[in-house]
Amino acid sequence: MKHLIIGNGTAGINAARAIREMDATAAIVMVSDETFPPYSRPMISYVLEGSEPHEKLPLFAGSVYEDLNITPVLGHRAAHLDVKKKIVRLENGADIDFETLLIASGADARQIKVPGSDLGNIFTMRTQKDVLDQLKAVSQGVKNALVLGGGLVGFKAAHALLKRGIRATMLITSPYPLAMQVDETAGKMILKELETHGLTVKVGVSVTAFDGGETVKNARLDSGETLECDLVIVGKGVDPSLGFIPENDIDMGYGIQVDSYLCSSVPDIYAAGDAAETFDIARQTRWINAIWPEAAIQGRIAGFNMAGRKVSYPGSLGRNVMRIYGLDVMTMGLANPENTKDLEIIQAGDENAGAYRRLVFSGDILVGAVLINQIEQGGILRAMIENRVPVRIPKKYLMSLNFNYSRLL
Ligand SMILES: Cc1cc2nc3c(=O)[nH]c(=O)nc-3n(C[C@H](O)[C@H](O)[C@H](O)COP(=O)(O)OP(=O)(O)OC[C@H]3O[C@@H](n4cnc5c(N)ncnc54)[C@H](O)[C@@H]3O)c2cc1C
Repeated sequence: MKHLIIGNGTAGINAARAIREMDATAAIVMVSDETFPPYSRPMISYVLEGSEPHEKLPLFAGSVYEDLNITPVLGHRAAHLDVKKKIVRLENGADIDFETLLIASGADARQIKVPGSDLGNIFTMRTQKDVLDQLKAVSQGVKNALVLGGGLVGFKAAHALLKRGIRATMLITSPYPLAMQVDETAGKMILKELETHGLTVKVGVSVTAFDGGETVKNARLDSGETLECDLVIVGKGVDPSLGFIPENDIDMGYGIQVDSYLCSSVPDIYAAGDAAETFDIARQTRWINAIWPEAAIQGRIAGFNMAGRKVSYPGSLGRNVMRIYGLDVMTMGLANPENTKDLEIIQAGDENAGAYRRLVFSGDILVGAVLINQIEQGGILRAMIENRVPVRIPKKYLMSLNFNYSRLL
């Protein structure tokens, strides 16, 4: 059997490990445009921050490809998938055939396209190379950094820069950071905490152009203001990395649509991780939950299925736990739904109370939660969402910190 895996991130490498557990002799070829061995992507911001050296990023020993008897094809990007012939063509023109294929190509950071965005010291934050380039810039002396975007990546970048003692300004189009993860009350608590620790946040503005010489010196904003900056980190979200897949050959929404075996609409072609649209347990629909633990388990399950052992994936749940200076923040599921029709939301606490809890229900099923501080019961709430445990007692009881969950049984 010949398995081809595109992407050496957590989804790709976990698939390879699962295949190897099942089959000692199958050929496994792994293509990636990154040349670093599989590494922890969420940790790259700790490298920027200086709390971890980049040598700590790899997930396994450097011999991982030999240990798993994988043929690595690194530093090459897949350019075209021929679904019928079962061939992937690389950008250098080389063809690789396969019997089963895993698309674990993750996501690419969105670039900013304004005049001057090609100046030096303007970076995205997705890869180990991004962070090594940022560190080089920092070592040459950076005074004022600009972070574009208030999502998880923008937030982590800003946090890292502040820890290095660099003045950081975050520009966000939404009224508060982490707007995809949390509601307004929680978002404003987070905003205040960041500002208290030195971050300048400007809401409702965006960059129209950058000026500079070799490197960036200023950002011009649509408010008419000009900000000095000698480093910019763009954290404006990601898009699944699927440019090599011809439209209409595989069912795709925003990502590759897969069934509960992580198989696409084409037999023998699987997808996992940030590139795959799986079933979202909270939303009860297809969704990409682009988080590390889901990518890892999807890769593993896809690998088993590719090797012939039928394993079903129960569906994904978006979730995050973050410490933002004095705030412990936990979010899960449909925490901040755009459309609240047919949903019931109960919430308690605020900035003055020092803690906040918001629960989102669809009928008697918990589908989302935001907890700020006092997050101890978060694991139970997560299990309730994942297992769709019906709440047949007054929902307000779940707001109590001393609530006895055995009452639900
Ligand atoms: C700064 C940062 C912080 C994060 N923090 C968290 C966190 O705290 N918690 C959390 O759960 N998640 C976090 N994430 C998200 C998490 O890292 C991703 O969900 C996870 O890495 C996805 O894994 P993957 O294997 O699907 O894709 P990736 O890790 O993106 O790996 C895909 C690989 O495929 C390669 N590739 C892409 N296209 C091609 C092609 N055409 N040909 C060849 N190779 C290709 C890519 O270069 C990459 O090496 C963070 C991400 C970032 C960037």
